[in-house]
Amino acid sequence: MKNIYNLSLTEMEEYFINNGSKKFHAKQLFEWLYVKRIDNITSVTNISKDMSKKIAEDFSFDKLKIVDVQEDVDVKKYLFELEDGEHIEAVLMNHDFGNSVCVSSQVGCNMGCKFCESGRRKKVRNLETYEMVLQILMIEKEIGKRISHVVVMGIGEPFDNYDNVMRFFTIINNPFGLAIGARHLTVSTCGVVPKIKEFARFPLQVNLAISLHAPNNEIRNKIMPINKAYPLEKLMPALKEYYKLTNRRLTFEYILLDGVNDSEENALELVKLVKGMNCYINLIPYNETNNIEFKRTNTVKIMKFYDILKKNNIIVTIRREFGGKISAACGQLRSKKEEL
Ligand code: SAH
Repeated sequence: MKNIYNLSLTEMEEYFINNGSKKFHAKQLFEWLYVKRIDNITSVTNISKDMSKKIAEDFSFDKLKIVDVQEDVDVKKYLFELEDGEHIEAVLMNHDFGNSVCVSSQVGCNMGCKFCESGRRKKVRNLETYEMVLQILMIEKEIGKRISHVVVMGIGEPFDNYDNVMRFFTIINNPFGLAIGARHLTVSTCGVVPKIKEFARFPLQVNLAISLHAPNNEIRNKIMPINKAYPLEKLMPALKEYYKLTNRRLTFEYILLDGVNDSEENALELVKLVKGMNCYINLIPYNETNNIEFKRTNTVKIMKFYDILKKNNIIVTIRREFGGKISAACGQLRSKKEEL
């Protein structure tokens, strides 16, 4: 049986039409699910008895289980249990501009980035669309507030689960449902080039972030295996093409790792690499984990790196850190739970 939160409005319309009902009922059901937030079909009053019965036979309305919540200043981390007993995480952050949620897109991850906790566990499976939609719905319910921004930067490589992630965006963006504006949605990839090209043609104006983390192939090869398949000479032209097609500014994420990619020379190389692109660089202080040997660059050095970019007219920010105390970074809570 399919979960009802898997369906985009268009798919729901097709379902109603294919079952001899009227298209507009799909919009009604969509509103029942995402605006009135019903838990089962019996609460729906304006759909025929027969059709309700059919829906109850064809779809489950099951939610995920929240098995752990940890809290720190302006941040809450949720551990969800899926139907097959797997665990995923989502992180809620309160900003002055609203509430954002960082969602996971896979159980485990195959990208193998050396500094990343999530990648220590190989991909078990992709998340279904409903498992991403429900991360948002359930957190909204738990806090009694609306989520205004969503980033797909949790566990997993979203471009390795492209179709489900795009359907997820379509659902949460739909004006008859959660209606989160596309410009408030961001997907982050380690650089799966064919999918970047496909994403450039995706109809919604969702933002793109690239986990760059290195200014040249030599360093990038050492810390991100994906770079062997899609080195910078393939990645950068794909991003330029993306910009040409979408006119949307790109974000580069750059984790500063002590002694690995944080020298002044690296900063200058980075300037050269992105020169002339409409982008901004988000410098990320590395969140150290017990299991991985990389160390965080100290603040003085981070500021030096920042200044070099700034002086060279690159738009650059240093990421505000949330939840260091509660293992909110990247796969750490799940690791703890499963003691991996
Ligand atoms: N697979 C996608 C999205 C998930 S990772 C991607 O690679 O973009 C989200 C971001 O967190 C990535 O930029 C990732 O490199 C970064 N990250 C991973 N581990 C981290 C850590 N310990 N500290 C800080 N950032 C980390």
